[in-house]
Amino acid sequence: APVVLEVSDLKKHFPLRGGLLGTTKGYVYAVDGVSFSIRRGETLSLVGESGCGKSTVGKSVLRLFPLTAGQVVLDGKRIDDMPASSLRALRRKMQVVFQDPFSSLNPRMRVRDIIAEPILNFGLAKDSADVDRRVAKALDTVRLPTDAAGRWPHEFSGGQRQRIGIARALAAEPEVIICDEAVSALDVSVKAQVVNLLQDLQKELGLAMLFISHDLAIVEHMTHRVAVMYLGKIVEVAEKKSLFGQPRHPYTEALLSAVPVPDPTAKRDRIVLQGDVPSPIRPPSGCRFHTRCPYVMPRCKTEEPLLKPDATGHLAACHLHDLPEAENPLLHKTGA
Ligand code: SF4
Ligand code: MG
Repeated sequence: APVVLEVSDLKKHFPLRGGLLGTTKGYVYAVDGVSFSIRRGETLSLVGESGCGKSTVGKSVLRLFPLTAGQVVLDGKRIDDMPASSLRALRRKMQVVFQDPFSSLNPRMRVRDIIAEPILNFGLAKDSADVDRRVAKALDTVRLPTDAAGRWPHEFSGGQRQRIGIARALAAEPEVIICDEAVSALDVSVKAQVVNLLQDLQKELGLAMLFISHDLAIVEHMTHRVAVMYLGKIVEVAEKKSLFGQPRHPYTEALLSAVPVPDPTAKRDRIVLQGDVPSPIRPPSGCRFHTRCPYVMPRCKTEEPLLKPDATGHLAACHLHDLPEAENPLLHKTGA
């Protein structure tokens, strides 16, 4: 399948104001050189703890603010440097579903008008009967009854509101959907339904999906590939099976150790990382994870590890992989 979205060396540094006469005191290195691509019909999950920069990646790709550096190519066209006027048509192709279904829908608009908004904005309908037809179709796609169109957001539960948000995104007929913690605010039982819906729609419509989440149990359930972020950088990217089966970055290993497994006898040993996530204003030298890594080596403090593939294409940024396989404690421990 063709690549729909390609991001290369994306950087977003937020200036810290408050110096003399409002000058810049420094930068928050929120996203610091991130690259990935997503194919048609594929879900890539971007995971990591809060503050790692994953939402900033989503917002940068959506061009909600200017980038510090890097390229974003949507459907073969560079959009990172495109003027706002030309961006309009491309905006339709990339839609977003946000975390909070309570604040992301305008309470003073009926569901019909909420879903009609992108249809009208992007001039997709022939006439008002066509708008209604498209609204009805979008509601049907997210498994809501057609009569939902005449009702108000407050009449719906959190899960139903998130379906309305998804219907609004789909009404634009996008090629890429960005879900930023789209199910994190929902109750456990509702979460599963909305995740299953997203997964079905992704397959039915052949969407490319960027699924931003801190919840690895959900990610494991629905994704094709996973990219793990730590302090503004991607530290590991692989097919789901490969990443969950044998993580190749110590940070991923620690994250996975905290995910509950269905079979209690197969329980992984929990790895509790020492210390806090360092500040993105002064990220550590060398490997950014070296202040917390259980396997830290002298070179990790000075030399930045690059994201490199192994023979299977599994990418990781860690100096352990320069060791012979038998001496790599990460691979050794899990017996891969
Ligand atoms: Fe740990 Fe070194 Fe690998 Fe960084 S490069 S994750 S500090 S072993
Ligand atoms: Mg976030």
